[in-house]
Amino acid sequence: MRQDQEDPYQRRSAQVYAAADRAGSGSVASPRPVLYDAVLLDRDGTLIEDVPYNGDPEKVRPVPGARAALDRLRAAGLRLAVVTNQSGLARGYFTGEQMRAVHARVEELLGRFDAWLVCPHDDADGCDCRKPAPGLVHAAARELGTTTSRCVLVGDIGRDVAAALAAGAAGVLVPTPVTRPEEIAAAGWVASDLPSAVHEILRRQQAVQPATPPTEPVRTALVVRSDSAGDVLVTGPAIRAVAAGAQRVVLLCGPRGRAAANLLPGVDEIIEHPLPWIDPTPGPVDPQAIRDLTARLGAIGADQAVVFTSFHQSALPLALLLRMAGIDRIAAISDDYPGSLLDVRHRVPVGVPEPERALSLAAAAGHRLPDGDEPVLRLRRDAVPPRPADLGDPGYVVLHPGSAASSRACPPELATRIAGALTDAGHRVLVTGGPDERAVTARVAAAGGTDLGGRTDLAGLAAIVAHASAVVVGNTGPAHLAAATGVPVVSLFAPTVPFGQWGPYRVPAVRLGDAAGPCRDTRAASCPVPGHPCLSGIDPEQVVDALRTLAISGGGGR
Ligand SMILES: [Zn+2]
Repeated sequence: MRQDQEDPYQRRSAQVYAAADRAGSGSVASPRPVLYDAVLLDRDGTLIEDVPYNGDPEKVRPVPGARAALDRLRAAGLRLAVVTNQSGLARGYFTGEQMRAVHARVEELLGRFDAWLVCPHDDADGCDCRKPAPGLVHAAARELGTTTSRCVLVGDIGRDVAAALAAGAAGVLVPTPVTRPEEIAAAGWVASDLPSAVHEILRRQQAVQPATPPTEPVRTALVVRSDSAGDVLVTGPAIRAVAAGAQRVVLLCGPRGRAAANLLPGVDEIIEHPLPWIDPTPGPVDPQAIRDLTARLGAIGADQAVVFTSFHQSALPLALLLRMAGIDRIAAISDDYPGSLLDVRHRVPVGVPEPERALSLAAAAGHRLPDGDEPVLRLRRDAVPPRPADLGDPGYVVLHPGSAASSRACPPELATRIAGALTDAGHRVLVTGGPDERAVTARVAAAGGTDLGGRTDLAGLAAIVAHASAVVVGNTGPAHLAAATGVPVVSLFAPTVPFGQWGPYRVPAVRLGDAAGPCRDTRAASCPVPGHPCLSGIDPEQVVDALRTLAISGGGGR
């Protein structure tokens, strides 16, 4: 199926940017970094040792290695801001003048910061700037002339990380002895100290930029992402990067990812074929089907293949077929020794968000997102239908209780109570689910909300999600649809896989659930623990509070 004629805007926009990039500078001047413009730093316990309510410049002691680490960020062109809760001002423990003296001393020791953002309030003030509220992160991004999704915040407690996520920024936790274990478990990105956090920020930034531009032009690139809708959606930015450097992109996906593949910008043609070494419930290997697939892959005439996988999947069986199909430039992530199956054997540390992991493979294959295209999930505009008129005005909350993997679904009993709590708080709730989830959606919607179970395909669901003020969902496809349409997510995240890899990407989010639950990192498809305790312990009022943190009010506003 040809798609480029159906969507000239999305397809060509990538190429226009790429051309502008090449023509623009005409020099070796480094292009805009792909991931981050700015690093926001908590003050006490992160930049300097925590001296409670300190108003005395003489007591300022930087953490080890802080100056050198910050200078590395400055040298890399990143802007720096401090984002700090100082409730000592509200409590009268020190004056604004004393605080400014402390900050002057911090700059004397650690160098200049581009902005200082201070919350002077206490918890009881109910302001929107005291972390974990996201106000300081929004203010810092504004002051630095960027957006929150292009910021990464480093802090030492859960409040810091939560504020970053709620603003759609990345958050790195650098624990100290006073950081609570549950805060460490919940953080998607943890570093042992400030210099290590800085090292990893710069490493991730570097990893998505090709070391060398492609030496030969790519006419046809074959990109591969098997597995389910969510897997395909999070590979979208990397596929756009390949599309910016290739004249034609063919995507090989599996049956469970096909509907998502139809939504991706940058794809000209789709081949659907199950891969028995990837599918979770594979049929037997059919030699004739494999021979047919190999012939089909050969007929594409690709001059490059980029095989995207999750960390527990192997790209090598397909690489062998691609070799047999005559493709001589093959790139994939492989910890296993690939012999001569791969030309680019890429390796990625654990914990990197899936979209960045894929972007780093695209970069290793010579491709980067063009300037003007942000590394966010996106959908083709023409692939998403209009929102059904009978749903009323936008601004509802979508509650999606199900998941293909039951370990990652919201327990129906909890979803029912969440529907009731949201309705009581004045939210209009739409309950969504697939055709096989109708019994659950009907039960949940009966507690408060409109039942849309089984009413839409994935594109129709995207249309509903796109007009929501937030989506309440487990770690499953619709969370990534929300990210792809810029809609905030209340993530009921079972810790079977790392949140840092699979959490909603670059969209305001609040994580709920027990991150240290016994199912942690098991990758279990069905919950191995009776009662599904990692999620069933969520209090529905936490969901209502999470929406408040995301500035979504019960009146339907945002
Ligand atoms: Zn405040």
